[in-house]
Amino acid sequence: MALSGSERNAVQRALARGGAAAVARVRYGLYRVASNSRPGTHHTVSVDDAGRYRCDCEAGLAGRPCWHAAAVFVAKVEHASKGRVTRPAGAAAPAAPAVSGMPVVFAAATAPRPSRQPLAAAESLAA
Ligand SMILES: [Zn+2]
Repeated sequence: MALSGSERNAVQRALARGGAAAVARVRYGLYRVASNSRPGTHHTVSVDDAGRYRCDCEAGLAGRPCWHAAAVFVAKVEHASKGRVTRPAGAAAPAAPAVSGMPVVFAAATAPRPSRQPLAAAESLAA
């Protein structure tokens, strides 16, 4: 089953709010994400060994994708790939179905470079 629209939206919101920069690692599998709506507060996101995300915000407790969990996902993908998440992945991503009340699994596309400009410059130098 393809990545759901609400998961894509959550990844897009996470990227718009700083992506990995919004995430603080507490310990293995446990992260804090600063609240966007309530400055000074944060939400706690846990990731289990199966890669399922749970967040203690209202949406997360209801089993819906939230940007806090998506931001943690972005941070983990960027750390693992040494790349930068630029957008949610397309329909080809092996994402689990998003069922109400079930833990959420995200997917994202990564780019190896933050910008295409330096690459274009390097290519023209090499030509
Ligand atoms: Zn949340």
